[in-house]
Amino acid sequence: MLGLSIHIPFCSAICNYCNFNRGLFDAELKVRYVDALVTEIAAAGSVERPEPADTIFFGGGTPSLLSAADVSRIISGCRESFALSPDAEVTLEANPETVSTDLLAAFRHAGINRLSFGVQSLRDEELKRLSRLHGAQRARAAVGEARAAGFDNLSVDLMMWLPEQTPDQWLESVDGAIALVPEHLSLYMLEVYPNAPLRDEMARARWSQAPDEDAEAMYLAAMERLEAAGLAQYEISNVARPGRQSCHNLKYWSDGEWLGFGCGAHSTRAGVRWKNVSATADYIGRVGKGDSPRSDSRTLTADERIGDAMFTGLRLTAGVDMDAVNRRYSTDVWQRYGSDLHPFVDAGILCREGPQLRLTRRGMLLANEVMAIFV
Ligand code: SF4
Repeated sequence: MLGLSIHIPFCSAICNYCNFNRGLFDAELKVRYVDALVTEIAAAGSVERPEPADTIFFGGGTPSLLSAADVSRIISGCRESFALSPDAEVTLEANPETVSTDLLAAFRHAGINRLSFGVQSLRDEELKRLSRLHGAQRARAAVGEARAAGFDNLSVDLMMWLPEQTPDQWLESVDGAIALVPEHLSLYMLEVYPNAPLRDEMARARWSQAPDEDAEAMYLAAMERLEAAGLAQYEISNVARPGRQSCHNLKYWSDGEWLGFGCGAHSTRAGVRWKNVSATADYIGRVGKGDSPRSDSRTLTADERIGDAMFTGLRLTAGVDMDAVNRRYSTDVWQRYGSDLHPFVDAGILCREGPQLRLTRRGMLLANEVMAIFV
C-alpha cells in the first residue's frame, strides 16, 4: 500500500544545525500552503478508483505549528483521494515547545494517532548549544501531555555526538528517554554541515565532538540500554516496542512506494522517482495555477532499483531477503554483488543466513562502506 508523506516547511526559529527544507512560520503563508497541499492531494488521487494507502506522515519543518483544523482538512483530503485503511498509521512530528494537552487532544480528534517528538537531548546545556527552543523539562512535559491527550503511540528523537557531549552525558539522555516509556525511539548522529551556523559557533566557542571511537561506543551502549528496556533495534537508527515500528518509514526501507506532497517532497512509485520544487512560494504558485509542482522526475534503471532495494533493506536489522529481490527484479543478487560483498561477510560486517543478508551490529557502524557497493 502507498504511504502518504506531507511536508510542512514552517518552524518557529531555525536551529543552527538544520539543513532541512524549512523557513520561518508565517501565518498568511501557512494558510495558502495548506490550500495548495489540499489541491495537490486532490489532483493526485482518484475519486472513482482510489488507491489503497495505509500511512500518513506529517514531517517537516514543524508540523505541530499547524492548527488541528489544518490537519483535519489535509487528512480529509487524503481520505477523499485515496482508500485510506481504517487502521492507518497517521503520524505528526511535534516540537515540545509548540504543544499543550488541548492542542494534542485536538490533533488526536483530527485523526493523528502517532506523535514523533523532536526531543534531541534531555540536557539543557546541549539543547542550548543546538539553539533548540525547548528545555528538558518542556520535553518531558510534552510527552506527559500526549499521554493525557490519549496517545498510545509515541516516538522520541534523540541526537548523539553533540558538541562537548561526553558518552556519559549522552547516556543520561538515553536513560531519560527510556524513563518516558515511549513506544519508539530514533537516534541520529549530529552531522555538522559545511554551511551550518553551528560550525562557526563551535569554532568560536572551541566546542568539539567526541572522537570517533567514543561515537561508536555511544551508539553501541545506547542500543544495549534500549534493548534492555524492551525497545528492540529494527533499523540502524530506530528501536521500538513489539509491533510499534514506524509503518511509514518501513516503506522507505523495504522497497515500498510513497507519494510526497508539499514543497521539496519526494515520491517513489512504479520505478519512477520525483521531487517537488523546494521553495514554498514557488510550490504554492505552481499549484495555484494548476501546474504540476514536480521539479524533476526520473525513471529508475533496473540496476538502480535493485541497488536501492539492497541499500535501503540493509538498514533493517532483519536485512534483505535476497530471494525476494531476485524474484521482484528477475535477477541474482549474489551473482551480481557477491564478489564485493564477500569480504564484508568474512570480516564479520555482514551476515548471510540462507537468503537473508544483514549487517551485524558492528557492521552498522560501517554501513556506509557496504552501501557504497550499491550506489
Ligand atoms: S525545528 Fe527541525 S526543521 Fe525546524 S529548524 Fe529546527 S531542526 Fe530544522
